[in-house]
Amino acid sequence: MTAVQSARLLIVGPQGSGKGTQGIRIADAFGVPAISTGDMFRAAVASGSDLGTQVTAIIQAGDLVPDELTSAVVADRLSQPDAASGFLLDGYPRNLGQVADLDAFLTGRGEELDAVIELVVPREESIERLTQRAAEQGRADDTEQVIANRLAIYERETAPILDVYRGRGIVDEIDGVGTLDEITDRVIAALERRGLMRSAAA
Ligand code: AMP
Repeated sequence: MTAVQSARLLIVGPQGSGKGTQGIRIADAFGVPAISTGDMFRAAVASGSDLGTQVTAIIQAGDLVPDELTSAVVADRLSQPDAASGFLLDGYPRNLGQVADLDAFLTGRGEELDAVIELVVPREESIERLTQRAAEQGRADDTEQVIANRLAIYERETAPILDVYRGRGIVDEIDGVGTLDEITDRVIAALERRGLMRSAAA
């Protein structure tokens, strides 16, 4: 019998921890879609959709989009066929309310998370990377004041979600300082220790 490939993963870390880049690499390695709520919201803003109109000002200020809206967007995305046997969520859940929403959604499908990757990066390093990204990409929410707001929200609202997942024994703390390949290899090794299998195609 061939084992069914499945990996339901979260990647969590402060802004500037490299979670977007690593998320894509890890998702590729395990053959699941990388789903970034930040990317989905930015695409909605760029397309001028109703959702985009609702979230533009919130994103520019670096505040959180309301849970009800965010969780509905994620539930819709996870209901698409490519996420049936796994996914890697980047940037969601971002607070305890969203943890409860995701639990309810997954429980309704008889599923659960396999692992939560915590990318650990010192504060000064994240700020340095964000400032560099601001210069390179000119993201509207990468100004100094907005960066400070987003990091404060991370510490206040997002860091506590890790305690919940730690209580479930599914958090892998990964040192997020090093080359891209070194960090990807650390994450893959940790996930393989949990018995998750890399996709044959990767
Ligand atoms: P990110 O690229 O993950 O830093 O997300 C960019 C922005 O999108 C955030 O600063 C929030 O305004 C919004 N956003 C992304 N994910 C979430 C989420 N899970 N809950 C609420 N707002 C979010």
